[in-house]
Amino acid sequence: MSPSNGDSVTRPLSGWGRFPVERCHIFRPEKRAEVGKVLASRSAPSYIPFGLGRSYGDAALNSDRGVLMLNRLNRFLSIDPQTAVLECESGVSLAEIIHFFLPRGFFLPVTPGTKFVTVGGAIASDIHGKNHHRDGTLANFILDFKLLTPGGEVLLCSPTTNREVFWATCGGMGLTGIILSAAVRLQRIESSYVLVDLQKTENFDDAFGLMGESDDQYQYSVAWVDCLAKGKSTGRSLLIRGNHAATADLPPNLVNPFPVPAEPRLSVPFDLPAIGLNRLTVRLLNALYYRRHATVMQQLVALDSFFYPLDAIGDWNRMYGRKGFVQYQVVLPLENARDGLLVLLEKLRQSRRAPFLAVMKRFGEANPGLLSFPMKGYTLAMDLPVTGGLVEVLHDLDKLVLDYGGRVYLAKDAVLTAESFAAMYPKLDEFRAIKEKIDPRGVLSSSMARRLGVVKD
Ligand SMILES: Cc1cc2nc3c(=O)[nH]c(=O)nc-3n(C[C@H](O)[C@H](O)[C@H](O)COP(=O)(O)OP(=O)(O)OC[C@H]3O[C@@H](n4cnc5c(N)ncnc54)[C@H](O)[C@@H]3O)c2cc1C
Repeated sequence: MSPSNGDSVTRPLSGWGRFPVERCHIFRPEKRAEVGKVLASRSAPSYIPFGLGRSYGDAALNSDRGVLMLNRLNRFLSIDPQTAVLECESGVSLAEIIHFFLPRGFFLPVTPGTKFVTVGGAIASDIHGKNHHRDGTLANFILDFKLLTPGGEVLLCSPTTNREVFWATCGGMGLTGIILSAAVRLQRIESSYVLVDLQKTENFDDAFGLMGESDDQYQYSVAWVDCLAKGKSTGRSLLIRGNHAATADLPPNLVNPFPVPAEPRLSVPFDLPAIGLNRLTVRLLNALYYRRHATVMQQLVALDSFFYPLDAIGDWNRMYGRKGFVQYQVVLPLENARDGLLVLLEKLRQSRRAPFLAVMKRFGEANPGLLSFPMKGYTLAMDLPVTGGLVEVLHDLDKLVLDYGGRVYLAKDAVLTAESFAAMYPKLDEFRAIKEKIDPRGVLSSSMARRLGVVKD
């Protein structure tokens, strides 16, 4: 059955981390006009929009309530080749934009580590990419969007029109309304290759030194941190930085500067037992990865492998076993980042949790988004399989992050407490006031919003 309008299907649902899994009533509108009908039908006590479920935790879940799957709203509405402004429905995925517009010389202005997210989901999380230090979040490139309010009105929001709602919605995790469509300014590029420099760093000091000194020369910068290195080597990493390759950077014999990206080659068809990722495996993987790459400069790398290495393995989230995993992503302000990240990694080591993937980026200035994640500083993200005691360990780490003036990213979160959340997001009251005004009857809610006390039960 294809649930649309007032029809729903009830089934267990999860985000990308497969933790938690919750029973939700799923509605799947086919057209923009149907979204309002579902909301008005009040077939469920509340609703939350759902894009492609690439947020890791419960941001797009609504236990025993309604979830509005919006990936059928996937039409391109217009493109202006002069200004590079694309207008599309909110369920269009970044993969669809790349597929259609990359061969025509346009790329996303900001992209996460997967292209399987929707435009609506990306705005609602106010996503950042490897270029935050230079370009900021996606919100900087949104000219405007049309928001269906819980009261049924369609509101045009931009940094100048309905400004407060715009900045509550960018990063607002779907709680202010349903983004129906958006106008996004794409960037023009000359090829689908990136010119990459790879450098090893000895520890955090070395990594911060290099990133602080020369990140500005690169549009994209990311460090892969070996979380198991100890003592003076804590924070040793592989720094991967690059710029889009211009026509002049390409070999003269290259026929097509925009080859079509390959489809995923591998997939994980079943749940691997979590033992497959035990500490030993992780240590080995880390060491291998670290040794394989010497310092390499000006390497031409295909855009897909540079931005989306994990997309090449379909359903890689199953590698963490049936219990799933949490991606713990924090940002610490510039002045505290070094000390805070050292303590954080030490605590994780003591708890014998083995992060499989730890990725560090440098953030530029924060924007006016009320619940937007980035602040000037360094962010670290790591995957942690769900095993006994993980939640307690993360709550402990949350306190540490707070002590250092940092915060946790909602798009990845599954466990933060309402108390820590309120302390991490100082504009929460402003957000609540706007939410109350735009949604007095509490039509939009999510499991995350209730857990974090953004809305009442
Ligand atoms: C491998 C991987 C790498 C990632 N890398 C990054 C990264 O580098 N940077 C980064 O910032 N994020 C990153 N993410 C997180 C991801 O970009 C965000 O979680 C994004 O919001 C997912 O989009 P989605 O369409 O899947 O939305 P969902 O996960 O389905 O929903 C996310 C939020 O958006 C809301 N939402 C969805 N659609 C709408 C709509 N139309 N209107 C209003 N609200 C809506 C939902 O209610 C929910 O609160 C990564 C995720 C993965 C799996």
